[in-house]
Amino acid sequence: MSKTESVKPAHFIRQIISKDLEAGKNGGRVATRFPPEPNGYLHVGHAKSICLNFSMGEEFGGTCNLRFDDTNPEKESQEYIEAIQRDVSWLGFQWNGEIRYASGYFDQLHDFAVELIKQGKAYVDESTPEEIRTMRGSLTEAGQDSPYRSRSVDDNLQQFERMRNGEFADGAAVLRAKIDMASPNINMRDPVLYRVRRAHHHQTGDKWCIYPMYDYTHCVSDALEEITHSLCTLEFEDHRPLYDWVLDQLDVPCHPQQIEFARLNLNYTITSKRKLKQLVDEQHVDGWDDPRMPTIAGLRRRGYTPASIRNFCEMIGVTKSEGVVDMSMLEFSIRDDLDKSAPRAMCVMQPLKVVIENWQQEEQPLSIAAHPKDESLGVREIFFGKELYIDRTDFEEEPPKGFKRLIPGGEVRLRGAYVIRCDEVIKNEQGEVVELRCSYDDQTLGKNPEGRKVKGVVHWVSAAKALPVEVRLYDRLFNHESPDAAKDGSSFLDHINPDSLTVVERAYAEPSLANARADQPYQFEREGYFVLDGVDSSEGKLVFNRTVTLRDAWAKTQK
Ligand code: ATP
Ligand code: MG
Repeated sequence: MSKTESVKPAHFIRQIISKDLEAGKNGGRVATRFPPEPNGYLHVGHAKSICLNFSMGEEFGGTCNLRFDDTNPEKESQEYIEAIQRDVSWLGFQWNGEIRYASGYFDQLHDFAVELIKQGKAYVDESTPEEIRTMRGSLTEAGQDSPYRSRSVDDNLQQFERMRNGEFADGAAVLRAKIDMASPNINMRDPVLYRVRRAHHHQTGDKWCIYPMYDYTHCVSDALEEITHSLCTLEFEDHRPLYDWVLDQLDVPCHPQQIEFARLNLNYTITSKRKLKQLVDEQHVDGWDDPRMPTIAGLRRRGYTPASIRNFCEMIGVTKSEGVVDMSMLEFSIRDDLDKSAPRAMCVMQPLKVVIENWQQEEQPLSIAAHPKDESLGVREIFFGKELYIDRTDFEEEPPKGFKRLIPGGEVRLRGAYVIRCDEVIKNEQGEVVELRCSYDDQTLGKNPEGRKVKGVVHWVSAAKALPVEVRLYDRLFNHESPDAAKDGSSFLDHINPDSLTVVERAYAEPSLANARADQPYQFEREGYFVLDGVDSSEGKLVFNRTVTLRDAWAKTQK
């Protein structure tokens, strides 16, 4: 048993692989693969599969391939291929050798199909798609043989050659495996292996006008790559007999073992690529990497770290039973990571001007720890001065019971600086508070005031030194627990949270944030975790995205 294995939960796939190794199966080799179809960006569900496949490869001293399952050229693109590689690397995994493509095996797949025909185990069916569907039968009724099922081997070889040569119109003929039209498993009722489709392929160009089907392609690709354990989600359980049947007929270098696990379902979001694409195409969000999207690119832009996603995947485990994971677990894992690692900074979202009337000097630089517990993160410089901003919500003229922040005549500590007292409240003609006149106690820098207790601590910035920034407050994209499975027949689009994005166009941040980087999230004290998104093109302001609030607000309000 390896060292890492002993500290990680022994989920059933770890156990199977361990046992196989002990038994000397596959010559003591472990080889897995992650096989995305390049028809969209990867999402958090894929992260589960990536973490599982790559970690099994790593832990058992084996390998994990990255293979594009690219058998549907019309839906696929180079953009997706590049995005997927970027996301897998960003999560911290390195695939074995070159990127692989199922399309790289089209020649072999073709030759194996010819081989099946020669063995009398595949035939060309010229029935219409509708006829094929009808003849397939149902869960309760056996299927019927197609009139083309009894074609001779020679006839089949010829017709398949004609399919390949473009002599059939799209959809006019398919190659089918000859298995069992009465099988209780519909997947075994002479499944289609090849179809005619005149489509330009991003890898093979116009070389092919026939394309192999997923079920046929996948097992052969696994075998050619000498994968030992082919891990996939539960919906493929009923396809396993076909996976095994195909490989049993062919002379392939190995016969991988398919093992199914439950897919990740996360509440308050969707993990269907088709629906995510719809959100993008219909511009409900600002692209695949919109920080509200459950895509890896979206999570990255939102400020999630690779470690937080990997830990989340480890935490949810791998089982065979379907369930729904609470979004708060994903949020917990990023809070947990950032609480330990994110430097602190102050940013005032709803600025209220504070004038320190007894401050007569220049701005005073103050040094404050970047992290309350981790000294290695160093210190940052903030400035105290005559004009400051505090958050509007940290002042109340008529405070509710238990309010510990600033009130008229009351005192509060400014984080990392002095205790101030509110001496006068200035209002505009509408009666709104526009400014507070305050005084500071010069005996309170880094120590408690004499003879009285000041309970509240608020964040603040110096008006002269603060950096005007834009802040985007992201929240969950959907306000329904299961947006695509609502019982009232509504669509997932009906459940988009109208408050999933609030833009604060002018917030004031402490000057240390001028050096912020897009890969280093911060905790804005008392507000949440934030990460730099970029620079606003019109005004040149830095834009920050809220990754997550400091506490889970959904647990209380939505249940
Ligand atoms: P589709 O095939 O419908 O486009 P898909 O989500 O299955 O969508 P793939 O690109 O085929 O996308 O997925 C690649 C791998 O990721 C597959 O092995 C698949 O089983 C796995 N996977 C996809 N969604 C999830 C999920 N929600 N949880 C765990 N694994 C998943
Ligand atoms: Mg799939």
